[in-house]
Amino acid sequence: MDVLVLGAGQLARMMSLAGAPLGINIKAYDVGTKSVVHPLTQEKFDLSLSKAIELSSAITAEFEHIPDDVLTECCASGKFFPGKDAIKVGGDRSIEKALLDAAHVPCAPYQLITEKAHLELAVANLGLPLVIKTCQAGYDGKGQWRLKTASDIDVIWQEMAAFIATGTEAFPHTIIAEKMIPFNREVSVIGARSKNGETAIYPVTENEHTNGVLTLSIASEIDKNIQQQAMDAFNKLATEMDYVGVLAIEFFDVDGQLMVNELAPRVHNSGHWTQQGCVCSQFENHLRAVCDLPLGSTKPLGVSAMINVLGQEAIPSEVLSVPGVLSHWYGKTARAGRKMGHINVLARSNTELGEKLTQLTQFLNDNDYPGVGSRGQLLSQ
Ligand code: ATP
Ligand code: MG
Repeated sequence: MDVLVLGAGQLARMMSLAGAPLGINIKAYDVGTKSVVHPLTQEKFDLSLSKAIELSSAITAEFEHIPDDVLTECCASGKFFPGKDAIKVGGDRSIEKALLDAAHVPCAPYQLITEKAHLELAVANLGLPLVIKTCQAGYDGKGQWRLKTASDIDVIWQEMAAFIATGTEAFPHTIIAEKMIPFNREVSVIGARSKNGETAIYPVTENEHTNGVLTLSIASEIDKNIQQQAMDAFNKLATEMDYVGVLAIEFFDVDGQLMVNELAPRVHNSGHWTQQGCVCSQFENHLRAVCDLPLGSTKPLGVSAMINVLGQEAIPSEVLSVPGVLSHWYGKTARAGRKMGHINVLARSNTELGEKLTQLTQFLNDNDYPGVGSRGQLLSQ
């Protein structure tokens, strides 16, 4: 079976690796170069997008920022999942908020902003500090401002106005202000939904961000109440969208109450631990869903951690000496802060996971791999 993935980055690569045992061959469409490439080698196929669509049994996406004409052409084939509307939800925070409101799923209180008066309204209604985000352009914490005092409104508005002005009628630039949520921690849930509405949901993952980028995920025993809230949100949102494929939802945990931060209509970085940590990984389940195959078990095989490798030239090979540690390298050119690979750690208990993380600090320094040491100590206590 052939599947076309829109986007040719590491998520397409990992779908390709997960698809091989199922006999699923992945081709990736690189939106930047407008070419169809092999997701592992990046070698170009002599194929137009239209031909690749024709040859595929199913089409999906590994990211949200896909040109409208490409989405339209893929949708017209009837093979594209999770579909254009779902991709738009992930690519525009104003659409995302409208969906959350329609599905009655709590999220951070917000105000859409297209003029200065709206910013003043946001300060009056939501209070300070505010987190201000571009609706269409952000990822990894980019395209965000923090407004801490009312005296900064003028300065921040200048920057926001400049951003709004660069939008066009076809690609408008809009901004959203959110109440700054005093969360205790960030968690996410990932699940798959099939064409007949069957779902398979993974255990909730706890995520640590550093400078707006995910650095560490931990999938250990989770409070039943938190898992239930996350599954309820997943079921409501996936049903509302008649979603097919893997959907990720990021939450703030505020004293045991979950509030959605954002959605990703695709496989997600906080689910990479499922590659070794679950019977069936998020990558395989996504392919199973879009190819109309039965979903696989999301049962965990132990407790897991996933450590992102950001901006490094290589993963120190010594990490492999720690039992249960697996390395995933994406084969990209190194750039400061760029997601280059990740390290999965599988253990039988929290204590063992803590010990393994502590062992890894011999090879992974705290500056490049924040949180590994402190989380290791916490878990092994
Ligand atoms: P990505 O898509 O890579 O997850 P992003 O650029 O889309 O990131 P968000 O997830 O919205 O951005 O925000 C990045 C981080 O900023 C969050 O994980 C959280 O730590 C912090 N943050 C965002 N919104 C809020 C908020 N309303 N209150 C408090 N912190 C926030
Ligand atoms: Mg996020």
